[in-house]
Amino acid sequence: MSYFDTLGRPLRNLRISVTDRCNLRCQYCMPEEEYVWLPREDLLRFEETNSLVDIFAELGVDKVRLTGGEPLLRRDLPTLVRMLAAKPRIRDLAITTNGVLLSEQAQALHDAGLGRVTVSLDTLRPERFKRLTRRDDFARVLEGINAVGRAGFKGLKLDSVVMRGINDDELVDLIEYGKRVGAEVRFIEYMDVGGATLWSMDAVLPRAAMLERLERHYGRIEPLIEESTAPADRFVLPDGTIFGIISSTTAPFCRSCDRSRLTADGIWYLCLYAKDGTDLRGPLRAGASPQAIKALIIPTWQNRTDRGAEERLALAHRSPLLPVGELRKDPHLEMHTRGG
Ligand code: SF4
Repeated sequence: MSYFDTLGRPLRNLRISVTDRCNLRCQYCMPEEEYVWLPREDLLRFEETNSLVDIFAELGVDKVRLTGGEPLLRRDLPTLVRMLAAKPRIRDLAITTNGVLLSEQAQALHDAGLGRVTVSLDTLRPERFKRLTRRDDFARVLEGINAVGRAGFKGLKLDSVVMRGINDDELVDLIEYGKRVGAEVRFIEYMDVGGATLWSMDAVLPRAAMLERLERHYGRIEPLIEESTAPADRFVLPDGTIFGIISSTTAPFCRSCDRSRLTADGIWYLCLYAKDGTDLRGPLRAGASPQAIKALIIPTWQNRTDRGAEERLALAHRSPLLPVGELRKDPHLEMHTRGG
């Protein structure tokens, strides 16, 4: 059974944040010194997440991505992976991680049934990594990336947020690194989401500029023509290497967006930019039946009108989405709580 929103987009793709904590402090996501964290007692237990995924799967969700914060900080994550991987309706179970803890956990995650891994990696320069993330974990991330293939995963992706004047001189280096480790690199335009308090349009390197720079180095780049609701447009280099660009800021893909997000404390958001979400933890803990929770989810999705990035694009003047004061009042507005 599929359910569609007001723009005909199906309820299909669920991103589940398993923790709002992170062990890095990336400039485009967590640039502040201090954060307000979700109360620990509010975090969904694995059994609760599992019950909600059963309900979502019955409503049409067949893709699940585990996110954070940094998901590998959640204790015993393979236990949750095992629960989710056992669901026949979930045909794609993936994780997005910063890679710091990956070398220790890749094998257990693979053995538990995780399907795919995406590692966020914005630079190949150790000093720059330290400056960008305010942590000295570059070597551990590379170890983590190496561990992915050893553990038996296929289809590794590397996601790089490109910021003008910060790391936009590394596009070619990142693609070459991707070739060496067997990963598809995806460049992401710097986004003005909640938490990106240092964002400015000047720091965005648009897709067209990325392609121009890459063509200058590699020669002609062809777009890959494919039917997909994936956020990345994919391209082919003359040597056959495929890479992607996620142009959420200058060419949003809201019209085909089938993604929704469940925070670690069970609030369900219909868009990365949404100000409000639907509390599913409350009813679940109050003993609501799966039918009652479905009755909450179905009309919420059917009434969905969200197209946050398109609305941002239409603004004459863009600045950070929210001031720090508002983020402090409600940590759910932070990208690191929503899972990016
Ligand atoms: S801005 Fe919202 S609707 Fe648009 S692609 Fe992102 S999550 Fe989907």
